[in-house]
Amino acid sequence: MSTHTLMPYDEALERFEPVLGLETHVELGTASKMFCGCPTTFGAAPNTQVCPVCLALPGSLPTANAAAIESTIRIGLALNCSIAEWCRFARKNYFYPDMPKNYQISQYDEPLCSDGYLDVEVDGKTVRIEIERVHLEEDTGKSTHMGGATGRIHGADYSIVDYNRAGIPLVEIVTKPIPGTDRLAPEVARAYATELREVMRALGVSDVRMEEGSMRCDVNVSLMPRGSSEWGTRTETKNVNSLRSVERAVRSEIERQAAILADGGRIVQETRHFHEDTGSTTSGRSKEEAQDYRYFPEPDLVPIAPDPAWVASLKAALPELPRVKRKRLQQEWGVSDLDMEAMHNADAIDLVEATVAAGAPPADARKWWMGELARRANEAGVPLSALEITPDQIARVCAMVAGGALNDKLARQVLEGVLNGEGSPDQVVSARGLQIVNDEGELSTIIDQVLADNADAAEKVRGGKIAAVGALVGGVMKASRGKADAGRARELILEKLGVSE
Ligand SMILES: [Zn+2]
Repeated sequence: MSTHTLMPYDEALERFEPVLGLETHVELGTASKMFCGCPTTFGAAPNTQVCPVCLALPGSLPTANAAAIESTIRIGLALNCSIAEWCRFARKNYFYPDMPKNYQISQYDEPLCSDGYLDVEVDGKTVRIEIERVHLEEDTGKSTHMGGATGRIHGADYSIVDYNRAGIPLVEIVTKPIPGTDRLAPEVARAYATELREVMRALGVSDVRMEEGSMRCDVNVSLMPRGSSEWGTRTETKNVNSLRSVERAVRSEIERQAAILADGGRIVQETRHFHEDTGSTTSGRSKEEAQDYRYFPEPDLVPIAPDPAWVASLKAALPELPRVKRKRLQQEWGVSDLDMEAMHNADAIDLVEATVAAGAPPADARKWWMGELARRANEAGVPLSALEITPDQIARVCAMVAGGALNDKLARQVLEGVLNGEGSPDQVVSARGLQIVNDEGELSTIIDQVLADNADAAEKVRGGKIAAVGALVGGVMKASRGKADAGRARELILEKLGVSE
C-alpha cells in the first residue's frame, strides 16, 4: 500500500467523516527561562544563553518563573478554562539529545487550566472548539542535522545542538476531539489556529511567530466511515508552522487516510511530518503512549496554588478579546458577517482599523485593503501586513480621492508607486504627475478636441441621445490619460453641446 496514494477530497468526504484534534505549543515571551534566569532572546549565538540549571548540571535546582505562570493563567482565562487551585509540575521522562536533563518538566494529570472553549467563525457559522487543557512546560533545545540532503537525522553525518531554547517557557493548549466539522475540517483547523494566535497577541504573552517556531501546531486527524460513530485511529502531524500549512496538513491527511481505509488498510497511530513543498505528510515515529513517559510529580518544585483573588483580578484585567473586538468593529463599520470573516481570513482587520483611526471612512479603508492591496499581496505571495505601505498612507490616498484630487484609477497608480518605494502618496502624485486635471481651461481644450474627433457621437447627443455622452467622456478620460474628473467632463460636454438633462 503506497503512502503516496490520495483519494480526491470530495470523494473522501462522501465516504468518511473527519475528527480533528489540535495541540498547540506557544513559547511565552518572558524575559527569562522557565526554571532559571537565562535570557530568552531569539537568534542569539548558539549556546550563549545557558546556565547550570538549563544545562542540567549536577546539583542545580529549578525555580518556577512567576511571570510564566501568570501568563498561562491569563491564557486559560481567555480560553474560558477553570484554573486549578492547586497543581504540580511533572517529570516527563524520555531521552532526547536536545534535552540535557533526559526529562522535560511539564504537567501531566494536574494541568494549570482545564475545560475551556474557543469560538471561531467558519463560513458564516460559529464553531465552538472545546479546550481540554492548558499546561505549562519547558521547551527543548534545537538539534540541527548536518550533511544530509533533507535536514533530517536520517542520512545526516552529524548533529549539533543549541541549548538556548532549552528551558524557554512553553504553553501547550490541547483541544478535545472535534467531530462534526465535516468538509470544513481544514478551514476549522486553520480558523482555530488563527483565532488562538490572535488571542495570544491580544494578551501580549507571546510574539506567536509561527515561522520562528514560537507557535507550532500538532494536527490530529482521524476518519470514521459515514454512518459510524466509532472514531478511527488518529495520526499526529507535528510542528506545522504556518496557518496555511495547518489547513493543508488536515486536507492531505484526510485524502491519505481515506485512500488507505478504502483499500481495506489500517491507519497506524504515529507522528507525521508535513512538507511545505509538496503539501503532503510522511511517516515519523510511532506515537508514544502516556505510560511510555513514566510521569511522576516533579520533586524539585513546590506545587502551584494561585490565590483565587489574584486569579479573579487577572480575569478582570483581561484585554478585549479578538472575537469581541471583531463584533464591535463589525457594528461600527456596518459590514456583513461574511465581509468581516473575509477581512479576518485576510488578516486585514488590524490594518483596516488602523486606516480608519488615521481618518479614512471604514468602507474606503476596507475597499483598498481587501481589493487592490489584497490582489497585490496575493500576487507577491506575502501577507497584507508585509506590503510596503502603511495604514496612514492608505488614509492619505482615501483623503485625496474624497477631496477630488484623485479618482480610483489614479489612486491605484499612487498605491503602486508607494509599493514600489517611490515615497509617500504626495511624493508619488507629484513625481508621476497624477493630479486630476481640474484646470477648467485645460479640460475645455481636451473636450473641444474630443468633440471634433467624434462628431457623430456629438451629433447624437445634440439630437437628444444623452446616453451617447458616455463615449465622449471616455474619450476625454483617454486623452487625459485618466486624469480628468469624469463628472466635471460630462457636465462641460453637455454644456458645450447645449443639452440639459
Ligand atoms: Zn539557564
